[in-house]
Amino acid sequence: MRMIIDTLCHIASSKFSDMEQLISDSKELGVTHAITQGTHRKDWQPTLELVRAYPEFLSSCLGVHPTDAHALQDGDLAELAALCQEYPQAAIGEVGLDYYWPAPEGWSEESYRARQRGLLEAQFELAAQLGLNISLHSRDRSGSVCFDDVFAIARNFPKVRPVFHCFIGTMDQAESIFNTLDGYISITGVVTFKKMDALHQVLINSPLNRIMTETDAPYLSPEPYRGQLNIPGRARFVLDKIADLRGMDREQLAAITTATAKQFFRLNPKAAI
Ligand SMILES: [Zn+2]
Repeated sequence: MRMIIDTLCHIASSKFSDMEQLISDSKELGVTHAITQGTHRKDWQPTLELVRAYPEFLSSCLGVHPTDAHALQDGDLAELAALCQEYPQAAIGEVGLDYYWPAPEGWSEESYRARQRGLLEAQFELAAQLGLNISLHSRDRSGSVCFDDVFAIARNFPKVRPVFHCFIGTMDQAESIFNTLDGYISITGVVTFKKMDALHQVLINSPLNRIMTETDAPYLSPEPYRGQLNIPGRARFVLDKIADLRGMDREQLAAITTATAKQFFRLNPKAAI
């Protein structure tokens, strides 16, 4: 049986109710482990509880997502650091910059983005202190200002290896992630959508050992389930699509992406992989 890892999902989401079902459905599809993200203060404890309840199936990353930057309170980052020390994490995540959504009320675009950058730097520092890697979110409205800013910050922390989650960028960007940052790209169900030819070219031309597979569940369900509630099991459709693009055996690709994820996220010994 194939063993696929979903390297990024949001299982503490209120959209999920039946964990046993989610896990058995995912395993049936060949996904034996998933890395769930606690992306803001209220998410951290529920995320840790899930990992404690299902250590074979779940690992976690904790962090503050850029779209929560404005809600950051005094003490949040200290609490994040304490939790990461008490409960070993797979990485810091999902963190980064988001220039897609408009600034919340009371914030100018500029001040909101500056706050996000400061928050990202602080979390890179935490990752460096703890010897963890980092799962990055980067979303532009148009152009590449956001990507360039994430890249510039990541470059200042050479000890922290980054994975750019839900990567849909260009080959130039992918190459600079691999070569300058010694980083990785992680691919969601978006790869199965129509008109993704540019991304397909990136995947055909990237080193296989720099690619990981994820779902971003409950979001971004791949074809043929686009628009439905997504589950970690559907990382299988992402993997199958990439294998088909490369004209290679699916089992063989699964072995490579799983080995990459296992090493990058230092998965816990109880993980079923
Ligand atoms: Zn994201």
